[in-house]
Amino acid sequence: MEERLTKAKEQFEAFLKERGMRRTAERSEILRKALEFDGHFDIERLKQAMDDEGFHVSLATVYNTVDLMYESGILRKHSFDGQQARFEVAANNHLHLVCLQCGKIREVSDRALFPAEAPKRLPGFHVSYYTATFYGLCNACARKNRQEQKKRAKN
Ligand SMILES: [Zn+2]
Ligand SMILES: [Zn+2]
Repeated sequence: MEERLTKAKEQFEAFLKERGMRRTAERSEILRKALEFDGHFDIERLKQAMDDEGFHVSLATVYNTVDLMYESGILRKHSFDGQQARFEVAANNHLHLVCLQCGKIREVSDRALFPAEAPKRLPGFHVSYYTATFYGLCNACARKNRQEQKKRAKN
């Protein structure tokens, strides 16, 4: 397991201990699976991934555990326009490009768009992390729309 994932695991276990909560087999499995996701996931996708592995837990348990992981700071939560909450392992700062048509999310971590000094320009506020969301059309959808427009124009 990658170092950052090991760290996330340790952080979550320390959090549970601090809260006086047990590290159950179910919680450990949900944690492991969540850390395996490369990028964003929603609760249902996580539950599905666990079912696929033959590890059956209730949706409520997945919800609760993901909430705990979020509270412990190892997950970030995003509520993109018109979509259910998405989670991702807290890592680098990045932008989200959300396609309004197909819902696909792309991540961009271009330094030019993310000036390192930005948090310092917010006096009286301590920034933990920052993100921004750009809404629009992905290339595939834009192309599809153009083709459909052409088709309509011919008819
Ligand atoms: Zn799209
Ligand atoms: Zn992201």
